[in-house]
Amino acid sequence: MSLQIGEISAAPGSKASGFLSVPGTAITMPIVVVNGAGDGPTLLVTAGIHGGEYPSIEAAIRFGAELDPAQLNGRVIVMSPVSLNAFHARQAFLVPEDGKNLNRQFPGKALGTIAERMAHTIMAEVVPHIHAWVDLHGGDIPEALIPFMGYEASPDPAVTEQSRALAAVFGIDILVKPDKLVGTSISAAAALGIPALLAEAGQVGILDEPNTLLLLHGCYNVARHLGILSGEIETVPLHEYAHWPWVRAAHKGCWYPRVSIGDTVQAGQVVGVVKDYFGTVLAEYTAPASGFVLLVCVALSVNVNDPLIGIAHD
Ligand SMILES: [Zn+2]
Repeated sequence: MSLQIGEISAAPGSKASGFLSVPGTAITMPIVVVNGAGDGPTLLVTAGIHGGEYPSIEAAIRFGAELDPAQLNGRVIVMSPVSLNAFHARQAFLVPEDGKNLNRQFPGKALGTIAERMAHTIMAEVVPHIHAWVDLHGGDIPEALIPFMGYEASPDPAVTEQSRALAAVFGIDILVKPDKLVGTSISAAAALGIPALLAEAGQVGILDEPNTLLLLHGCYNVARHLGILSGEIETVPLHEYAHWPWVRAAHKGCWYPRVSIGDTVQAGQVVGVVKDYFGTVLAEYTAPASGFVLLVCVALSVNVNDPLIGIAHD
């Protein structure tokens, strides 16, 4: 059966690419539809929901470009970079038109702001076709990050287990199961009963080959796990964490982190300070829990509500 999304249509055994329009806006999102010669499930891979996460964006582009429909049992849809507007603005975290974090807007709104409409378009036009969703991310332009993955609980425990199974085959060793992150791609998918995985690698606005390959191999592993592709799955042992708290800035100013990614911190430990432009300390920030530092803001410039560090703990 042909797969049609917006104006893009791919017959069985073929691949098509183009742009999916966001109704009522000038925004378009790149999309590749790979319709396999054989039957099977449909996998969605997205990247660039945040515009400066380059290894994830490149991994998804390569995945869509490399896939041969003749080799597929099932279908793969790739969207990267989803937020073409943020990508070309070199805008971290936010959609430039409305200043919203697209990964907090799902399932979106048909008549909302730009980011809300982008989320809605993906949910309304793409997600009804899919059986699994891998959303690739990384540290954005001001963010250091060690590779990790996340998944969310679904109302159906079997779906939660299927999401965890995607993580188990992906090939990254750290897995967090956050307490309900409202508005994310994976929480919207989980609510609909669709297994979904967040996979993060790469950092600080750099396109690097090891992190690109880590994410690209993960996409292949998931496609093999789902039976869409044949071939060996290479896995790594998982370290699982139940919680993933973030420390956010309460002040605008200059940020001086005192921890690095991969550090172990104790609850209450000072993880950094924000100073004003004259060297006066405005606030000390402490670790909310004992755990393992997954991400750190490494930009001197911080704004209120910016993530400063993220910790994983049991
Ligand atoms: Zn991201």
